[in-house]
Amino acid sequence: MEDRDEKGWVSQIQSFSVNDGEGIRTTIFLSGCPLRCKWCSNPETWNLKGGTLMSVKQVMDRVKRDVIFFRESGGGVTFSGGEATSQPEFLGALVDSLYHMGIGTAMETSGYFSWEEVASIVEKLDFIFADIKHMDGEKHKTFTGMDNRIILENIKRIGELKKQAVIRIPFIKGINDDKENIKATAKFVKEYVKEGKIEILPYHNLGEHKYRDLGLEKYINIYGTPSKQEIEAAKQIIVAEGVKTINY
Ligand code: SF4
Repeated sequence: MEDRDEKGWVSQIQSFSVNDGEGIRTTIFLSGCPLRCKWCSNPETWNLKGGTLMSVKQVMDRVKRDVIFFRESGGGVTFSGGEATSQPEFLGALVDSLYHMGIGTAMETSGYFSWEEVASIVEKLDFIFADIKHMDGEKHKTFTGMDNRIILENIKRIGELKKQAVIRIPFIKGINDDKENIKATAKFVKEYVKEGKIEILPYHNLGEHKYRDLGLEKYINIYGTPSKQEIEAAKQIIVAEGVKTINY
């Protein structure tokens, strides 16, 4: 099959990722994100037309170099961002090309996307990582700029498709680390994502220099890094609700 001729903006392509799914993976960070999480460590991905404009063929040529590692390790390609679905036609064309080559695909998403635009792509993916940043709609809006309704609806639909899914909680002290929120997240996953697991991603202050380089100083927020005990306590709450936890 010929690769389609769509073009899209790519923030970065990273080979040999081991934290974004099974095996050795190539992670494609697509540009654009509708959210503005106060703890975001990738502000360089916010701009829809940031990074490098690439054709599907250019991305595929880059990915093909890594195929041998996918085959040996059970890996594949993970789409990330920004928000991986911000350029749905480009993402769809890339997923189609990978699908026809038999390369495994995963997507990391904030869950904030139009289901109608993205459903046919989701159906072809092998694995989905979706964030639940806060179960409280008001707090979600305060901390990310967007309400969580669309996100929770999309995660329910992913659950209905019985996709392999991991729900990620970016775990930030004083923002979403309280027992009530962790418990509510676990209950939601238990009800709507039957085989879903939860991964806790502890906050690390890694992005500060990027904000300075981009002239985005006014968006810098520094939070405390959660301790091992705090992370363990959250995991116990999740397990007590009957949901498995996982760490990549
Ligand atoms: S969804 Fe991800 S990329 Fe977008 S603002 Fe939030 S943390 Fe940053």
